[in-house]
Amino acid sequence: MESNVRVRFAPSPTGPLHIGGVRTALFNYLFAKKHNGTFVLRIEDTDQTRYVANAEQYIIDALEWSNIPFDEGPNKNEKFGPYRQSERKHLYKQYADVLLEKGWAYYAFDTSEQLDAERKGHEEKGKTFIYNWHNRERGRLVNSLVLSEDEVQKRLKNGDKYVIRFKSPQDEILVMNDEIRGEIKIDTNVLDDKVLFKSDGMPTYHLANIVDDHLMEISHVIRGEEWLPSMALHVLLYRAFEWNAPKFAHLPLILKPVGKGKLSKRDGDKLGFPVFPLAYTNEKTGDVSRGYKEDGYFADAFINMLALLGWNPGTEQEIFSLEELTQVFDLDRVSKSGAKFSPDKTKWFNQQYLQTKSDAELTALFLPILEEKGISVAKSNAEKVVSLIKERAIFVSDFWDLSNFFFETPSEYDAKASKKSWKEGTAELMKELSEVIEGVSEFSSVNIETIVKEWITSKEIGFGKVMQPLRLSLVGAMKGPHLYDIIEFIGKKETLKRIEKAINEL
Ligand code: GLU
Repeated sequence: MESNVRVRFAPSPTGPLHIGGVRTALFNYLFAKKHNGTFVLRIEDTDQTRYVANAEQYIIDALEWSNIPFDEGPNKNEKFGPYRQSERKHLYKQYADVLLEKGWAYYAFDTSEQLDAERKGHEEKGKTFIYNWHNRERGRLVNSLVLSEDEVQKRLKNGDKYVIRFKSPQDEILVMNDEIRGEIKIDTNVLDDKVLFKSDGMPTYHLANIVDDHLMEISHVIRGEEWLPSMALHVLLYRAFEWNAPKFAHLPLILKPVGKGKLSKRDGDKLGFPVFPLAYTNEKTGDVSRGYKEDGYFADAFINMLALLGWNPGTEQEIFSLEELTQVFDLDRVSKSGAKFSPDKTKWFNQQYLQTKSDAELTALFLPILEEKGISVAKSNAEKVVSLIKERAIFVSDFWDLSNFFFETPSEYDAKASKKSWKEGTAELMKELSEVIEGVSEFSSVNIETIVKEWITSKEIGFGKVMQPLRLSLVGAMKGPHLYDIIEFIGKKETLKRIEKAINEL
């Protein structure tokens, strides 16, 4: 049964979605699912100056890749549609008018030059200019609180530029509640009279956001900490409209891996990790930013990592499927303090998830890479290789480096390893070993191992004396999985060929 829980993710399409935005979307999604509620996507595109055309699609693609689909949004179950604020433009003026009528808002005709002059004048006296009860009725500012009704109407008819400002209350200690932070008190005297509506017919973020949350019956506003300073205005707006306010929860910031402050794209560029879910091309500059998807991260690993940025389950458990997260997530375990982002931990999550993927699934991802390298191999063989190497991989893209010797004769030999393991007499030993291997009739890993080991024991020499040059011959370096598995895979003929090549070249 659907509950009354309705939450929304309300990004502004100004560019690619930062991973902090994905985390906000995720927490909203989890909260909705946990409470059988509805997760809404609303595009807040009232600020046309910051609008970026491909950003909305990017947001939708990012949510889809992250596997956190919205229940209602643009072109999807438009119960309270439209879900793009630019398409709801006609709605907002009437709400600004309601506030004007109730005395909670007023027209202001001050030009930006006048306001700049006020600001400067204050600065010269070491003060900060705030447009609010301090000065809104003192006569220096040009608004409907000081102008006569006739004058106001005349200016409006004239088409003078205006804004509608909220009339924030004087001398009140506003007591609010945040689901994560608890009680928050604000002295309303420090609030400025924020602009709600502009004469270009567009509402500002504050008005549109409140009106839409109300009309879309949003029960919980879960958003980033950067919106905490707007909470007082929003609570006051609900009061002014005489609407029930939703519950508020402000999520902690995602912090830089080192030092203080919010994780930025610059940190990612500097330390070599993406801060966006998907790669993004800036249409103006042509700059391409990396994305987690394109960098080879699994969406479920990425989401698992994000879930633990600012939330904890209260246990040591770190690996959670999305399904599990929807069961255990709740706002009371979201922390107040910022969560440090760790690129290494993110890799660790990917490695953990890679290990849990089936060999068949991983092989399907590996085959195109092999094809690109010009290797044609039966699917079952590729799968065999995957099963042997995956424990050493963080990404599927590591597979080739971990396994190329299964498919190709080494073209060169690691110099350090050669020096260490290829000594006087090694060539003769390898020649003898070739004959031993040649004689193995049932060419299975276990069988080859038993026979080679018997031979080494009978020669009364150390295992390393044989095994190291053998690995070097077959792999080209001191790496790779169990050597006898490699021998079985490449077959007798190729094994003998590689040993001979090493004898000739080392
Ligand atoms: N449009 C705002 C943003 O870009 C939404 C803030 C909110 O969730 O109220 O983040």
